Amino acid sequence: MAKEDYEVVMGLEIHAELSTKTKIFCSCPTDFGGEPNTHCCPVCMAMPGTLPVLNEKVVEYAVKAGIAMNCDIAENSKNDRKNYFYPDLPKSYQISQFDMPLCKNGYIEIETKDGKKKIGITRIHFEEDAGKLNHDEYGGGSFVDLNRAGVPLIEIVSEPDIRGAEEADIYLKKVKSILEYIEVSDCKMQEGSLRADVNVSVRKKGDNKLGTRTEMKNMNSFRAIQNAVAYEVKRQIDILESGGKVEQETLRWDELQGETISMRDKEDAQDYRYFPEPDLALIHISKEYVEEIKRNMPELPESRKNRYISYYNLPEYDANILTSTKYFSNLFEGALEVCNNPKAVSNWIMSDIIGILNEKEINADKIPFTAKDLGELICLIDKGTISTSIAKKVLLEMFDTSEKPNKIIEKNGWVQISDEGAIIEVVNKILAANPQSISDYKAGKDRALGFLIGQAMKETKGKANPGMLNKMFLEELNKQ
Ligand code: ADP
Ligand code: ZN
Ligand code: MG
Repeated sequence: MAKEDYEVVMGLEIHAELSTKTKIFCSCPTDFGGEPNTHCCPVCMAMPGTLPVLNEKVVEYAVKAGIAMNCDIAENSKNDRKNYFYPDLPKSYQISQFDMPLCKNGYIEIETKDGKKKIGITRIHFEEDAGKLNHDEYGGGSFVDLNRAGVPLIEIVSEPDIRGAEEADIYLKKVKSILEYIEVSDCKMQEGSLRADVNVSVRKKGDNKLGTRTEMKNMNSFRAIQNAVAYEVKRQIDILESGGKVEQETLRWDELQGETISMRDKEDAQDYRYFPEPDLALIHISKEYVEEIKRNMPELPESRKNRYISYYNLPEYDANILTSTKYFSNLFEGALEVCNNPKAVSNWIMSDIIGILNEKEINADKIPFTAKDLGELICLIDKGTISTSIAKKVLLEMFDTSEKPNKIIEKNGWVQISDEGAIIEVVNKILAANPQSISDYKAGKDRALGFLIGQAMKETKGKANPGMLNKMFLEELNKQ
């Protein structure tokens, strides 16, 4: 059978570090980085005799995520110990949630190329992060850094509803965007704030039974996931095609070699010996508490999108892109406060700004100017102070220097020439220098007009008002 006869089935377990100020069971800071072992205390270093105290904000943030992903919030939930030994985990167990997670039975909606699709969320629970091992590249051993130990996490487990790497990409981006909108995680993948265990299986199209899955741990880049899934799907299909059986195992993706490497198979799967955490009380969540959080939820992307379409009359295409991250959405709304031209603001974000971000490989959260600056730039075009082509140059400088548009225009002398006398002077100069174009135009070659306007723009370094140039060239040419 060919590759096309197989269907790819995936489920993701996404870990997101919560952006609470302090850790989950002590009051140490959660800040990323810092000198090793400076954000620690006896509790997160697991000294004997210390006791955890649950940070209420962690529960609040997890409930927020649950609400945003349409989950049932459990009235009663608890913490459990997940036992395993690894040097970055000095307690030798992680406090997590096992059979009574905080949130269950949710879904999120994604836009695929075949339309809208719901991806089920099995559960969202909260737990503590482990520390980090730094391996000495000269073979001198490994160092433990416990700054990350006890940083709160939520784990969002999806149903195996995802069909293929492309859908996984859309799903992960949607989860990231929701977590950013509700401000519970900064989702910085490069800092490990968002990482996913990616489960993949294949089955013959039409089969109801799921195939055996493999799991790739701790993926933290969209590109790596695409590459890893493509590799793993081919590997599994090749096994099945040659009459073999896929083994359930945990894999590690080696980006350099471009292959998956087995970490452990089902035989030596970990037995975590979960049991209820005796040092923490049961968690009771009242209906009022959930209602209170619902009332104070920031506006979600779905709702913003609908508002952009109905209130600002934007095409759905625009609204989708603008709400794909809160950074675009906030930029859009902030610019509108200064410049009430929604379609123009949308166009500038969708083409120019996203184009520059892609080219310079900058993330949307690192746009170096304010929404107000963008609004002002667009106002200056609307008022005729600068032309669109100058505005593009101003925007590039805003990216490079973070300076205000007015200041950039002034510094470079880029104010548009809209003075009739000045324009006519340029028009006459260009006509005098290009008699051939005049005869071409007279002979019906309209392209000659474009050429003349181009020359005039060159002469004025792009500053002449293009509408006026067009009008005055026509007037002069018709006089000739
Ligand atoms: P574990 O916690 O041991 O990894 P779970 O049963 O909780 O196992 O499943 C983890 C993830 O694997 C979930 O996201 C689920 O949707 C996904 N999954 C389960 N079975 C399959 C399968 N056959 N193919 C692809 N993904 C699967
Ligand atoms: Zn601590
Ligand atoms: Mg798993």
